[in-house]
Amino acid sequence: MPIRVHQFACLSDNYGYLVRDEATGLAAAIDTPDADAVLQALRDTGWPLALIMNTHWHPDHAGGNAAVKAATGAKIVGPQEVTRIAPLDQALSEGETVMLGEAAFTVIDTGGHTLGHISYYDAADHAVFVGDTLFALGCGRLFEGTAEQMWTSLSKLAALPDETAVYCAHEYTAANARFALSVDHDPVVKARTEQVFAARARGEPTVPTTIGAEKAANPFLRAPLLAAGLGLKGAAPAQAFAAVRAAKDAFTG
Ligand code: ZN
Ligand code: FE
Repeated sequence: MPIRVHQFACLSDNYGYLVRDEATGLAAAIDTPDADAVLQALRDTGWPLALIMNTHWHPDHAGGNAAVKAATGAKIVGPQEVTRIAPLDQALSEGETVMLGEAAFTVIDTGGHTLGHISYYDAADHAVFVGDTLFALGCGRLFEGTAEQMWTSLSKLAALPDETAVYCAHEYTAANARFALSVDHDPVVKARTEQVFAARARGEPTVPTTIGAEKAANPFLRAPLLAAGLGLKGAAPAQAFAAVRAAKDAFTG
């Protein structure tokens, strides 16, 4: 039986997610960006929270752990780094499986934005929860890790099946689209950005995206193809990625 995902916007530009295992009715929260918003989403859905699954330690991801656990008794799993700011019941690392009822999530180490950042992949349901690693047309800033580490992480996500739904933790897509247009003149990118601007003008989310859509238009995944245009012909993929990341950090358009 599949999972169901309830997506809600919170804070200034975060997305929170509740995931329900349809076989057992048990639910998980992917991160706790805002405890009040998570608890409201639980009331809206009526889903019983069994689990909190953190992606990384940042306050807009783990800051609601204590309050949501106090209100629901949910068990908290995530990378060890979460204990820097919030309670954690079980530390996870690459390759482990998290069960939510009958639904299985494989832990993928996607360090780079933070050193311990992880993603949760449900292969049976073609869904991956990526926190601040991969965004629609973007990727997370390198606050703690190196470009090499982030490139390795993004490459793992890019290797998932094209139809995999990618649940990112922020709605940054319009700004990401403006940057994509500045470095990539592929018609596929142009068409995608037009869809993004239209969706945002209608007030619609651009998340989830898919691995296939990101491989086709995300300038960070396409970095090796853009290297020549950035004056880095023949650069190693991680170097090309580092150049695109640096260009985005400096981009003000
Ligand atoms: Zn973050
Ligand atoms: Fe974040």
